[in-house]
Amino acid sequence: MSIPKTQKAIIFETNGGPLQYKDIPVPTPKANEILINVKYSGVCHTDLHAWKGDWPLDTKLPLVGGHEGAGVVVALGENVKGWEIGDLAGIKWLNGSCMSCEYCQKANESNCASADLSGYTHDGSFQQFATADAIQAARIPKGTDLAQVSPILCAGITVYKALKTANLSAGEWVAISGAGGGLGSLAVQYATAMGYRVLAIDGGDEKGAFVKSLGAEVFVDFTKSKDIVKDIVAATNGGPHGVINVSVSEAAVSQSVQYVRSCGTVVLVGLPAGAKVIAPVFDSVVKSISIKGSYVGNRADTAEAIDFFSRGLIKCPIKIVGLSELASIYELMEQGKILGRYVVDTSK
Ligand code: NAD
Ligand code: ZN
Repeated sequence: MSIPKTQKAIIFETNGGPLQYKDIPVPTPKANEILINVKYSGVCHTDLHAWKGDWPLDTKLPLVGGHEGAGVVVALGENVKGWEIGDLAGIKWLNGSCMSCEYCQKANESNCASADLSGYTHDGSFQQFATADAIQAARIPKGTDLAQVSPILCAGITVYKALKTANLSAGEWVAISGAGGGLGSLAVQYATAMGYRVLAIDGGDEKGAFVKSLGAEVFVDFTKSKDIVKDIVAATNGGPHGVINVSVSEAAVSQSVQYVRSCGTVVLVGLPAGAKVIAPVFDSVVKSISIKGSYVGNRADTAEAIDFFSRGLIKCPIKIVGLSELASIYELMEQGKILGRYVVDTSK
């Protein structure tokens, strides 16, 4: 394919400023990078946090967001090995790291102090052509539906890694808090495929029916429950062995510390602005609970998460709209109204 000089993108110049759908130059891959013709990109709540400037880490500005981009390799930097034009590739959150620090050596590249982040410190997948570090770009098997696979590239990898972090055994209970959203709807399915019993927490009847259709055994509605801790402990006969917090709610995180089973693990994934975990020291000690942060996943987690998808164990519940409509997706996301994941088609 001939690579055009300009392309459509959504770009913003200030945090919270206008999301402009316009023509911008097609980037040139550096020596270590591939150029991907992004066909579809999932829209993650992280993209909304990045646009709003919610976190104590600056974004580049102006910025093209997006980090769940699935597409086709159209150009290779001069040092790139192991990729060919026409291969299917994914843009994920971690776009590059130093590869030599203690964390990179141990395959914890997302913890590298100089990690380069798609849609945050590096222009991401809300454009038709995006660059990705050849080492970190995700390998997508030939013949894969690119719209369907796109949410795996952040949401799927992240929840799969978070479930591994919870260190559960088959047959144990895991609570997914924020189960009806983008990460949650995949977490319910990965947890089911990994043999765990799922208690899903979110708000509203529609989300309840939705998470049950994905494999949740029990649904607890945080908008209706009068005592959520009591209800969850009762439904799981003593509390879930693990909790995956993917809601954007500070209160929900602190509740999870209370309802988790003794010797269980609370995994922190969602990143509400300025939030703190409130964990009573006495209960945490006497119940011997673990509270762990989990941040995306490494290359092995990526390959494994994609493999679950390729084997048909995970179906991404997506709604596809044009890239030009990104602002309206952010509005729905802010209101907690999205079931599953929105995916943007970069051609519209
Ligand atoms: P989303 O908006 O699609 O889903 C959030 C869900 O939480 C919604 O369904 C909402 O109804 C539900 N919710 C809100 N309040 C709740 C409450 N009190 N109890 C239970 N559920 C509640 O968001 P998403 O794209 O799934 O992202 C979720 C969070 O995870 C964001 O903060 C995002 O930045 C973060 N994230 C973290 C990582 C990581 O590596 N740690 C990776 C990706 C995303
Ligand atoms: Zn994400």
